[in-house]
Amino acid sequence: MAEKPIVILPEDFQRIMGKDAQRNNILAAKTISEMIKTTLGPKGVDKMLVSPTNDITITNDGVTILEEMQVEHPAAKMMVDIAKTQENEVGDGTTTSVMLAGKLLENAEKLLDQKIHPTVITKGYRLAADKCQEILKEISFKITSDNKEMLKQIAMTAMTGKGAEEFKEKFAEIIVDTVLQVKNNEDVDLTNIKIEKSKGDGIQDTKLISGIILDKEKISVDMPPLVHNAKIALIDCPLEIQNPEIDTKISISTPQQLQDFLEQEENTIRKMIEKIKLSNANVVFCQKGIDDLAQYLLSKSGIYACRRVSRSDMEKIAKATEGKIVSNLNELDPSDLGSADIVREFKHGEDSFTYIEGCQNPKALTILIHGGTEHVVDEIERAIKDGLGDVASALKSGLVVPGGGAIEIELAKRLREFSQGLSGREQLAVEEFASALEFIPATLAENAGLDPIDILTELKSRHDAGERNAGLNLFKNKIEDVFEAKIIEPWKIKSQAISSATEVAIMILRIDDVIASSGESKSKGKVPEMPEY
Ligand code: ADP
Ligand code: MG
Repeated sequence: MAEKPIVILPEDFQRIMGKDAQRNNILAAKTISEMIKTTLGPKGVDKMLVSPTNDITITNDGVTILEEMQVEHPAAKMMVDIAKTQENEVGDGTTTSVMLAGKLLENAEKLLDQKIHPTVITKGYRLAADKCQEILKEISFKITSDNKEMLKQIAMTAMTGKGAEEFKEKFAEIIVDTVLQVKNNEDVDLTNIKIEKSKGDGIQDTKLISGIILDKEKISVDMPPLVHNAKIALIDCPLEIQNPEIDTKISISTPQQLQDFLEQEENTIRKMIEKIKLSNANVVFCQKGIDDLAQYLLSKSGIYACRRVSRSDMEKIAKATEGKIVSNLNELDPSDLGSADIVREFKHGEDSFTYIEGCQNPKALTILIHGGTEHVVDEIERAIKDGLGDVASALKSGLVVPGGGAIEIELAKRLREFSQGLSGREQLAVEEFASALEFIPATLAENAGLDPIDILTELKSRHDAGERNAGLNLFKNKIEDVFEAKIIEPWKIKSQAISSATEVAIMILRIDDVIASSGESKSKGKVPEMPEY
């Protein structure tokens, strides 16, 4: 009897199984890690990325490179996700985390070649990761918000080798002041820090504004360009007559009725403005629209006003000026007003801004970044964000570790000691995990033109001799106590990198079957045809 073929998957599905699937995924992950490793550390280089619309990004930042690259391969996409998680959780360490995952997989491949089953490898990796976290906590140093000097060093370490390098001392000061100002106990909500960018002037003109900068101008030229002792009303209802949501008809039969109707509308607006005046506000930020009559009345009363301010900016202004956002004008009370020394309009080139400055105890602040070109300003922004993330994260956990590869070497050493107590095959996996960690100092050395093997050998022997903070100081190209050399990073960078790299490596190792619909990829990349006229 002839066998009938059984159709399980449609024709356009592609299936890769077993070893092929595994090797394929590992190769993709390794490629991603190899690609960005040249950017690691202070001597790492930048990459220039050109988007399909020819926009150029020049950066040293791991997550930015990966996001712009528009990776297609599913396993490679998982690597990009590690960088994104790292960025969201810490704000720095993206290159490190992706490199670790890549190396874990590369080393796993060696074990696969020795016919060690993936489940044994994943079990060993999991054991190693757990132990690693335990050791990491044990060998971290404590830090509190009183230790401003050390916080500054953390910010500087984060910015070393980036576009901000030259002015990193000044930026570190700004970063630490900002974080300490907005912190709530030891918790820092980075969304309370606004970053505004202004093209023109030099990088050195970057500064901290104790208040908020809005990219909005005042709505009428007749309004005062500057208000001292600002009393700020934050309003999230429209200062205009709202169109009814449903179609409405009003029958008007006499000119007088029309007149009355218009007057009534006008009166509504007048009453609104009266209420604002009654509260003694001299500045109004409105989340919705402000109509012509309202504009006129506000200008006549010498009130500075901006409209259509975004919700997130409204919230930041409220935090900076200690004001309250009011939804109902009837409830506007003088105690709801925020205050600032100065509110002023500022024109810079073609851009207009409103500065809200001199807030007393602002819980939201702005860092205004200056730089010659857009690319410079963008790269400075990324560097400052790394610094902000690191300082905030160090405060939150209260733990820091020495950089320059010192922590990785110490972890690797202790992991190897731990592996001695394990059974044969798991022991191999834990040892491979340890050697993956050493990939970080080796790459730091390689990127600086030093011999990675020499550096690793010396680092290991100094750690064996008990120098647990011995790391590679790339300011001097020398191995020394990096804690004393002030190369310090938050604990969370390493702990997050280790946990997400392990998770993804394990996840990729467990896959032995890739079933892909090719329907989508067929249509992808095709340019739609232009209709003919
Ligand atoms: P990531 O995206 O992982 O943060 P970076 O390019 O910012 O990558 O590099 C971070 C690495 O550079 C860390 O391992 C850190 O310890 C190291 N590093 C920073 N400053 C120095 C320095 N002066 N000497 C040696 N290593 C440094
Ligand atoms: Mg970094």
